[in-house]
Amino acid sequence: MNRRTVLKRTGIAAVAAVSPFPALFSGASNLLTTNTGSFRFKVGDLQLWTVTDGHALFKPAQPIFAPDVRPDAINDLLKENFLAEGAVDIAFNVLVLQKDKELILFDTGCGINFGPESGKLPDNLRNAGIHPTDVTAILLTHGHPDHIGGLLDKDGNQVFPKAAVYIAAPEYNFWMKGEPDFSKSKFPDKNATAAWVKLARTNLAAYQDRLHLFNDGDVLFGCIKTRIVPGHTPGHTITEIHSGDEVLLHMGDTAHDHVILLAHPEWGVGFDTDFDQAARARRKVLTELAERRVGVFAFHLPWPGLGHVRRSGAGFEWVERAIATP
Ligand SMILES: [Zn+2]
Repeated sequence: MNRRTVLKRTGIAAVAAVSPFPALFSGASNLLTTNTGSFRFKVGDLQLWTVTDGHALFKPAQPIFAPDVRPDAINDLLKENFLAEGAVDIAFNVLVLQKDKELILFDTGCGINFGPESGKLPDNLRNAGIHPTDVTAILLTHGHPDHIGGLLDKDGNQVFPKAAVYIAAPEYNFWMKGEPDFSKSKFPDKNATAAWVKLARTNLAAYQDRLHLFNDGDVLFGCIKTRIVPGHTPGHTITEIHSGDEVLLHMGDTAHDHVILLAHPEWGVGFDTDFDQAARARRKVLTELAERRVGVFAFHLPWPGLGHVRRSGAGFEWVERAIATP
């Protein structure tokens, strides 16, 4: 009984007032969502959910995606994968993990910062039977606005008033201390990066009394192994969730789409703070995922963000987890 609803964009003007990316979204929406917006599954004995915060359509795809690549090459690849030319539609998938009395979110989605097609996490959590006050911990993969924007509501109040917030020490230092360096990024809009910094400082400061910094290799809650993989941001974190023999690897923002950056990790994306370092890190992590054949969760890959990575030619491809029932 999954009534599917087409959510229509309600106008770019409302978005422009609050979005750090006012000029980047365009085109009609094709967002489909189920009534619940969540998918429940297990890793070993652990209960997990993936909960959608929404999506963002980048049209045109360039210059954010593959900024130095010929448009023909991108369009050929999109076409070959049965996708619309000149556009990339990215998901915002939030992982939720229950361990004993802990209810842990991995990132918080966009909040009010990216317009009406995102910021749906609180409603979709409630639909899954989880009230925001039930959340005891939030593990931030990094400090970009689509990951920390959901910490505060439109009035500046904490959305998760009982939650402790965990973030990698180098990530915290990057945003909060001195002037963040975007000189190795290919992001075209300096006003936008200034807005990211402002948002990170506001949102992290709001949780200062319950903020915990972790370092590379720290294990949180006895089941989450953290690994700092710099490039996308200086403290960008991927995590491994363990239970018994089973593992799920949350790859964070290793890739922002399931075609362009998997097939050509070096084509890169403007969001990366250090474009070249991120490209190398992307190839290295994808190589590891393919060799280990480990289950993967991805924040930006198509809903519900679960699958595997395998080699394909000189690059990789995303193999979505086959789900027989919702
Ligand atoms: Zn992101």
